Amino acid sequence: MNYYNLKNKQETVDFKTATIKSQGSQKGLFFPETIPHFDEHFIKHLHLYSDEEIAFRCMKDFIGDDIPAEVLRTIAAETVGFMIPLKKISEQISILELFHGPTLAFKDVGARFMSRCLSYFLQDQDKKVTVLVATSGDTGGAVAHGFYNIPGINVVILYPKNRVSPVQEKQLTALGGNITALEVKGNFDDCQKMVKQAFSDESINAELFLTSANSINVARWLPQQIYYLLALKQWQQKESTDPVICVPSGNFGNICAGFLTYFRGLPADHFIAACNENDVVPDYLKTNQYQPKKASATLSNAMDVGDPSNFTRIMELFGHQFDTLNNMITGYSIDDESTLQTIKKVHEKYGYILDPHSAVAFASLEKYLNENPGKKGFILGTAHPVKFPEAVEKAANIKIEIPEALNNLMKKEKKTVEIPADFEELKRFLLNQNQEQ
Ligand SMILES: *Cc1c(COP(=O)(O)O)cnc(C)c1O
Repeated sequence: MNYYNLKNKQETVDFKTATIKSQGSQKGLFFPETIPHFDEHFIKHLHLYSDEEIAFRCMKDFIGDDIPAEVLRTIAAETVGFMIPLKKISEQISILELFHGPTLAFKDVGARFMSRCLSYFLQDQDKKVTVLVATSGDTGGAVAHGFYNIPGINVVILYPKNRVSPVQEKQLTALGGNITALEVKGNFDDCQKMVKQAFSDESINAELFLTSANSINVARWLPQQIYYLLALKQWQQKESTDPVICVPSGNFGNICAGFLTYFRGLPADHFIAACNENDVVPDYLKTNQYQPKKASATLSNAMDVGDPSNFTRIMELFGHQFDTLNNMITGYSIDDESTLQTIKKVHEKYGYILDPHSAVAFASLEKYLNENPGKKGFILGTAHPVKFPEAVEKAANIKIEIPEALNNLMKKEKKTVEIPADFEELKRFLLNQNQEQ
């Protein structure tokens, strides 16, 4: 499979190059040249296949010969090496719990797949590789854990100071070793801008072998398709209608992977983009005007994105047809107040504890189902509630049990380097770090 640059369609690369380079010229995102269809028997009878086999089949057409089948099988199996159950919350709404991985968030899936592909591709490389990544909360931890102690790879994570939860912060600052956390005095969009600029900076790239682990990287973006299949496998055994799929969205990589499975033949009734107050996409769906905004801080901080980078992939996937897109997807913007009320209500009514991101999704799906009676669906549960104890305890007046592994993590020391939201500072840091080694 080849991938083309969305900013320059003449530029095509294979999966290996797309993974290593992360983006093309003019900071363009890579996009698969063809959308491979699922085998019809396979997609209708997913329960006949193991999760590992589903993961392998989902990915193999995108990788081609770049990774031998037996290696890809192992990578696929490790990617889904924790449980991903679909649980019923109410009669109409189920949740796909994607938070049983090492950092208790769905980003573990993409980060595990990508880190393993990258270490396979770079095993013969003598230059040290730096994985540079901006995080609004969860990416950092997932990437840190995915790459921790992998020889030949340094990880540098930028995160917005005071904008991530204590658990998230520990997950990305306490590992040490080959992981460095930069605490940026700015917001996530600042972090993302600095990272993007580093990738196009000639003097940095002359010295360092830079790669990214953001959801713009195809090796992180594409494996997110896998759990849509795992959800459907469980859905098919319980329900007779096609699901409405509701995705809490920030950078829109997750939902974009869902659309991809839809175009490959996954039966879905409709998609919901559930956003917090950062409502660029819901706004676009109302007005057909895409207007990036400054991100504002909310309780669901991993979705505080004012200019989602995967939006261009979504447009490409829908052939730039606003009407087609608008028929398939509904956007909602849920404020913090409703998020807290949803956590409280769902706990009281169903005894289920949602994290703020999943609560945004629950509120959105509930709205849609009220407006469209007779349908059923599921939300993607993107984070464990324990990652956001303050919001959850405030809303539901309950104490959440902290898992043992997390208690140990919380006792560890935070190690960061604080920098202003200034690209020159990042540049200085990267070049210095390289010289010290
Ligand atoms: C990253 C993240 C999201 C948003 O996912 P995107 O792919 O960026 O849209 C939602 N919820 C949680 C908990 C996250 O960490």
